[in-house]
Amino acid sequence: MERRTKIVATVGPASDDPQVLREMIAAGMDMARISLSHGTLEEALARVDRVRDAATAQRRIVGVLADLPGPKIRAAEFPDGGVHLAEGSVVALVPAAAEDRSDGGRIAVDLPTLLVDLERGDVVGLGDGVIQLLVQGVSIDRATVEVVSGGWAQGRPGVTLPPGRATMSSPTAEDFVLLDALAGKVDAVAVSFVRTAAEIESARAAAGAGGPMLIAKIETQEAVDAVEAIIGVADGVMVARGDLGIRCAMEDVPHYQKHIIRTGVAYGRPVITATQMLESMVRAPTPTRAEVSDIANAVFDGSSALMLSGETAIGQNPVNAIRTMARIAQRAERDFDYQGWGRNLGRQLSAAADPVAANDRITAAVSAACWRAAMDADVDAIVACTNSGATARAISRFRPAVPVLAVTPSEATARRLSVAWGVTSLLADRHATTDNIVRFSVNAAVEAGIVNPGGLVAVLVGSPADPATDTLRLVRV
Ligand code: PGA
Ligand code: MN
Repeated sequence: MERRTKIVATVGPASDDPQVLREMIAAGMDMARISLSHGTLEEALARVDRVRDAATAQRRIVGVLADLPGPKIRAAEFPDGGVHLAEGSVVALVPAAAEDRSDGGRIAVDLPTLLVDLERGDVVGLGDGVIQLLVQGVSIDRATVEVVSGGWAQGRPGVTLPPGRATMSSPTAEDFVLLDALAGKVDAVAVSFVRTAAEIESARAAAGAGGPMLIAKIETQEAVDAVEAIIGVADGVMVARGDLGIRCAMEDVPHYQKHIIRTGVAYGRPVITATQMLESMVRAPTPTRAEVSDIANAVFDGSSALMLSGETAIGQNPVNAIRTMARIAQRAERDFDYQGWGRNLGRQLSAAADPVAANDRITAAVSAACWRAAMDADVDAIVACTNSGATARAISRFRPAVPVLAVTPSEATARRLSVAWGVTSLLADRHATTDNIVRFSVNAAVEAGIVNPGGLVAVLVGSPADPATDTLRLVRV
């Protein structure tokens, strides 16, 4: 069987060549992520077009995720090749002026209130948290810091202040501008550094009801504490382990990962586990054994999708990184406890204020019956006939052992399902009756080679006018 866990790969300078992009898709990239923290909006839009072209050339359904920068404080650009900040050395931190640059003696920080926010004794993180700077004193024009943990500073590293300092809400004014420019062009938007459900709701108001999926990146302690409410109003969630590990105790990250995944699945939302999954492959042709184990464990935890960041954006061999991740995930899936997973699942949750909750409840109940029937009748595949994708997500949360095919008339829905666990999408015409929807969907499954004549299929379907999926049929092909 095909791989069930999806792969989100970040597209960047290492993957701008159309040929590389096509190979990345062939190797297993299901969704392309475009980070708006680096580069211009024009570059991001050009990347969206290149991914669309490559997907068309490969005849594959590939989703596009635009990742908003959010209120991340960054240092001004370091010289090419980076600068080594040695332990024990003393450096100045200053608020960045326009066009400012950083170097080994002076780090310009993109925060006008820097010198008000910092005080003696603070520890400031730089980059992935490896570099730590201890504030020795703050004067009128600079904070003097001692490097207490050294390392390489490259590009425009993030600057992490102690918790509670300089907290801006997400989305930022810049995020709203980007959201407006991208909403009609991408399938999903990731909201960075969210802390409350209200922040997702404000992004939703800006994106519009028919806008892209909103993925809540859980990367602050506040978001972990409010994770149920945030997931309730989001369309998907990301375990953003990079920033999370800087902002909460590092040793909490694996436990938060499991908790976020379980909560996402309870709400029927796709969950993307992200960051440093194959970090060593930015430079090396093979991963560390610890990375291999981390990926397998992320599959066992129930991740819908796994993400690659620098590995494919700036890494030495993006295609090799995807191929490696695909192999590890596929191997882990062989030992996934499919039956135990579905048995232990409670009923699907929804946000209290959600107006579509009543229909979702019907869809969820019929999907639960489908999971049970699929095992008892020993079906060869499950076919979810879906307009919005909700039915496919409702059955996907059970992690069925047999293939799940989403048959949909909507290309946008098919692309959004590119992060749904175990779902393969097929485009189909609209039909006026339930009988015809079932007949043509089953035919499509046969033509796609997912079931053979004589096989048994469980079909989830509703009537064309009804938003809820209220029918389960077992069809002998
Ligand atoms: P980023 O988000 O790569 O945009 O920082 C993911 C993370 O923080 O893990
Ligand atoms: Mn982050």
